[in-house]
Amino acid sequence: MRLLLLSDIHANLEALEACLAVAPAHDLIVNLGDVVGYNASPNEVCERVRALGGWIVRGNHDRACSGLTDLSEFNLIAAMSARWTQTALLPEHLEWLKDLPQGPMRLGEVEDVEFVHGSPRDEDEYVLNPSTAGANLRMPGHAGKIFFGHTHLQGGFAVENGRMRNFAPVFPTGDEVVQFAMPLAAGERYLINPGSVGQPRDGDWRAAFALYEHNGDAPGAVRFYRVPYEVDETQRRILSANLPERLAFRLKLGR
Ligand code: ZN
Repeated sequence: MRLLLLSDIHANLEALEACLAVAPAHDLIVNLGDVVGYNASPNEVCERVRALGGWIVRGNHDRACSGLTDLSEFNLIAAMSARWTQTALLPEHLEWLKDLPQGPMRLGEVEDVEFVHGSPRDEDEYVLNPSTAGANLRMPGHAGKIFFGHTHLQGGFAVENGRMRNFAPVFPTGDEVVQFAMPLAAGERYLINPGSVGQPRDGDWRAAFALYEHNGDAPGAVRFYRVPYEVDETQRRILSANLPERLAFRLKLGR
């Protein structure tokens, strides 16, 4: 079974379309949340994501932009974009965002795999370092392969016999579509981030996503992708919506 993993699209329509255009054949889409926030196409992206079907867990921006949580945890720019998104969203998309389920989520047909926005123990936790990753991977009752988002950093963490390592795909820089295959090992436990479609923060401006190949009892494999997109158009939309300039500027830096 092949799962297309999308996360942190953040209302970036051009990035989403570019990823879908090159996505390999898949059986199911799993979305790790933050459909909206930051960028300027929340309605178009909600419509597209809803039409794609599949499974989705909510992100913190989905909660904030649909009014489920207040903006006190957000920095100024994130709060400004959330307020703008609240007023821009059509009621039907707002209601859809409000009803998105909280992770962790499991799918019956994909054993020993779990999907979260932040981490298994806290949907808002940033898994950025080995100690946070280790604390989550050692928690009893959780799957051996956990797919997460929220950090906007492609890659993740693996632990085997108590030894923790982090990993990230290595790509040539440039403006090509690139991919990086990572076979998973039996006996290792993983936290894997497909990267952010709409606002990457690892220094590569290209949109990120991943494909997970689940082969029954075999460990399977993950393929990470980076995809160039029409970032000038995304920036133009942000500026013409009067969103903070920084949100447009950061996209080309991948920060
Ligand atoms: Zn996010």
